[in-house]
Amino acid sequence: MTAGLAALAARLADELAFLQLPAPRWTPAGEHDGAPVADVAIVGAGMTGLALAAALVQRGVSVVAYDEAPAGLEGPWATTARMETLRSPKQLAGPALGIPSLTFRAWFEAQFGREQWDALDKIPRLQWMDYLRWYREVLALPVRNGHRVIDLRPRRDGLVELAVERDGGTATRAWARRVVVATGRAGLGGPALPAYAEALPRTRWAHSSDDNDYAGLAGLRVGVVGAGASAMDSAATALEAGAAHVHLLVRRADLPRINKGKGAGNPGFVAGYARLSDDWKWRIRHYINTQQVPPPRNSTQRVSRHANAHFHLGVSIVDVDEREGALQVRTSAGSIELDFLIFATGFKVDWRQRPMLRRIAPCIRIWKDRYAPPAGDEDVELAESPDLGAEFEFQARAGADCPGLDRVHCLSYPATLSLGVITGDIPAISEGALQLADKLAGLLYAEDIEHHYARMERYDEPEILGDEWVAEPLASPVSAASK
Ligand SMILES: Cc1cc2nc3c(=O)[nH]c(=O)nc-3n(C[C@H](O)[C@H](O)[C@H](O)COP(=O)(O)OP(=O)(O)OC[C@H]3O[C@@H](n4cnc5c(N)ncnc54)[C@H](O)[C@@H]3O)c2cc1C
Repeated sequence: MTAGLAALAARLADELAFLQLPAPRWTPAGEHDGAPVADVAIVGAGMTGLALAAALVQRGVSVVAYDEAPAGLEGPWATTARMETLRSPKQLAGPALGIPSLTFRAWFEAQFGREQWDALDKIPRLQWMDYLRWYREVLALPVRNGHRVIDLRPRRDGLVELAVERDGGTATRAWARRVVVATGRAGLGGPALPAYAEALPRTRWAHSSDDNDYAGLAGLRVGVVGAGASAMDSAATALEAGAAHVHLLVRRADLPRINKGKGAGNPGFVAGYARLSDDWKWRIRHYINTQQVPPPRNSTQRVSRHANAHFHLGVSIVDVDEREGALQVRTSAGSIELDFLIFATGFKVDWRQRPMLRRIAPCIRIWKDRYAPPAGDEDVELAESPDLGAEFEFQARAGADCPGLDRVHCLSYPATLSLGVITGDIPAISEGALQLADKLAGLLYAEDIEHHYARMERYDEPEILGDEWVAEPLASPVSAASK
């Protein structure tokens, strides 16, 4: 550890002490079948899982976070992401939970100084991952890596049973009183792919979130479907790997230029969104969806600086088949022959892609079970989103018999329609983690009220000892004389 980081760790320890954090454990220790029961188990220890674990530890709640990835490789940053820098502005407080010494800026300045901070434009992607690694380490968060949760079974007795596979070996069982699904952008599903992709040989295409071998694209004609940030990152990576040509196939006649979601951001939006009516929530999210988020300027320029990059706008793919050793791509604007396609087409809710949720998925109410949007505002992504309750919990659809389903909470991107922008992006992740941690602490307390009441009754630490005063009878000689 550098001297700067050691000094920062000492400053952080002071700040936590000044705030009296973490609170001592106050929940009763439970066990089941001889194994400890966590108050909260978090599935996923990416940025969201870490921030939530930190907020729960601060509140004196027992927590364990499972992540299938090896330590330090959680989330997309050092694995499938390909941008040079984050989109988010460098000064955002991210998962710092209101503690100055936990910010990226504090971590950066501790190592490189204020001048370098002022000179920094955007945060390099891998440096963000380094910061998250430090965040976890300096807070000593209870994360178990190489642990894949493969089954969640809420029970009638107030516990949720988890089946956890360790490093691909046999699954063991674990128990928690509450479970939070913090599995990220694709957290309740996986890649959204056009129907024709599934019929193509797997050697001919990748989704932008795949761990694709870009070096293997050298010399090939590559098509990239989409025009968002991940389309630019995939195209740039293919070009840098020596692709002969990269064709961006974009359905829209123009690239979106304005990030409406960014324009909507303010503390009221973060705090007040969940209170809005269904109609307003749908209207806002549908508007942001239809306006679409532009790719970052630097990512777009990273593509266009290559002479063999081609932007084709207003081009819809009609179908694709493999013939004569290549992909024959038929589009609304004519045909093109390619060797490989990358689908930068985002993610969708698709419970089948998440075996962990197979047991509860049929019970979970989604927006389309309950809400019909105004004609013309239909939106498949929104319609498939989980319809979460005020405690971020999954709710049962009409007629479903799933006792304990409300013990499973969701803090991942598909929760955005219900909860707003607190579900996993850097700008409001602290608010999401703090809000959910408060709600979980409150639920745990209310559930154990008899225990806490009995504890209050048993509590016997005197604050005064009885030798601080002398009691006198009311009719004392002084008061009689003064009559
Ligand atoms: C390429 C890319 C770039 C992005 N850039 C930005 C940006 O600049 N600014 C911004 O605000 N947002 C950005 N985002 C969006 C968002 O901030 C990130 O997706 C971020 O990683 C979300 O954090 P998370 O913890 O919710 O999810 P993740 O970081 O994806 O973490 C989820 C974790 O869950 C684990 N997991 C999943 N299933 C299981 C299971 N069954 N058992 C155990 N573990 C499991 C995974 O291994 C993973 O580590 C970006 C997203 C992507 C994909």
